[in-house]
Amino acid sequence: MNGQTKFMLAENDLPKYWYNINADMPVAPEPVLNPQTLEPVTPEFLSILFPMELIQQEVSTERYIEIPQEIREIYKLYRPTPLIRARRLEKALDTPAHIYYKYEGVSPAGSHKLNTATAQAFYNKISGTHALTTETGAGQWGSALALACNFFDLDLEVYMVRVSYDSKPYRRIMMQNFGAKVYSSPSNITDFGRSVLEKDPNSPGSLGIAISEAVEVAALSEGKKKYSLGSVLNHVLLHQTVIGEEALMQMDLAGEYPDVVIGCVGGGSNFSGLAYPFLRMNLKEGKKTRLLAVEPTATPSLTKGEYTFDYGDSAKLTPVMKMYTLGHTFMPAPIHAGGLRYHGMAPSLSALCKAGYIDAIAVKQLATFDAAVQFSRAEGIIPAPESAHAIRATIDEALDAKQKGEKRTILFNLSGHGNFDMSAYQAYFEGKLDDFIYPDEEIKRAMVDLPQVNLSK
Ligand SMILES: *Cc1c(COP(=O)(O)O)cnc(C)c1O
Repeated sequence: MNGQTKFMLAENDLPKYWYNINADMPVAPEPVLNPQTLEPVTPEFLSILFPMELIQQEVSTERYIEIPQEIREIYKLYRPTPLIRARRLEKALDTPAHIYYKYEGVSPAGSHKLNTATAQAFYNKISGTHALTTETGAGQWGSALALACNFFDLDLEVYMVRVSYDSKPYRRIMMQNFGAKVYSSPSNITDFGRSVLEKDPNSPGSLGIAISEAVEVAALSEGKKKYSLGSVLNHVLLHQTVIGEEALMQMDLAGEYPDVVIGCVGGGSNFSGLAYPFLRMNLKEGKKTRLLAVEPTATPSLTKGEYTFDYGDSAKLTPVMKMYTLGHTFMPAPIHAGGLRYHGMAPSLSALCKAGYIDAIAVKQLATFDAAVQFSRAEGIIPAPESAHAIRATIDEALDAKQKGEKRTILFNLSGHGNFDMSAYQAYFEGKLDDFIYPDEEIKRAMVDLPQVNLSK
């Protein structure tokens, strides 16, 4: 086997700008609504939760937004991340396809989430915030934000979904190591947490519930605490575009251009971070790359959800957004890709899927772990169970190319490593994992509780 495997950029090549898809959206944006009035939300309402700089980024239509030097300095701890050609996987599959992956697991937090955690901590710090609140599912977001808050000397409270709190002690300890306070959600600390526990003392929790708790604490803190979200929002997707901007340069180094770009989707941030710069090339440079978002059959928001206005959390405290959703009362099955269990999807990604600029598929849990193990045996990296969804789709693409005798260039986002997810792998090897297909009746049931939006214009 010869030929180059790693395509590395120098520290100086670190992108100086994030790419803002809002500048090039081929479909009209939908308004974001106040959850109480269901009228368009005001900056004053948002400023209870977020610092003004992030609110400005949320609504900005400027195409390129400069990455401040302070953020670039922290990015340099792990960026530019490598682009790797999966030559050994290609060989194992005996495929004519060329497979590349962008490896975000080299971040000290172990995933792409540090790209936005760093930015959010920085903008909060310079706006005078002293403390942040957030939720976490599997713990990847919480640990990334804990690290970023540690760098910028901010306090952090994390509401961690109970099933993960109990089953993922190492992520919890990682957060504590960086100085965060971690609570099992639903907790006794908030009104909403108490109300959930009253109805069901054994509630396993959900991201929707944990978000409600973190938002409640920030909203009632009289400005002392702000809230931070690790996916879904425009500014989060914006910060993640550093991934795709690097990948464009690295594909150039490799002398190839992807026919298909693949990423797993929970709230949509790692996928969009890689795919939006390639979408820009489709929209403006006449490229024809297929952009493929991959979700679990257990949380099929893009493939089975409804494109409609919904709340972002269970207590209806967050702004209402138009998105693909399974309903804010969604209670996920206990699948092992904790980071993919959110009921909704980023509004920009939802709109682009609806309009056909981005494709989506759902893959089953067992086939996903099969792919993860096959990948790890070829390439040596044990992927995060979330990222493994992208690997499943990548392997299927490569096998399809083989069957058709086509050379196809595939790029996927390896959003994180799975070194803290051994209990999921253990369950897989012990034959304890199931395929879970979210039932259509559940989707219908959860749709009765949607906000009744009646926009006059
Ligand atoms: C959180 C997480 C995801 C899912 O979130 P997105 O916002 O859709 O990217 C995927 N992979 C890893 C490793 C994660 O930590």
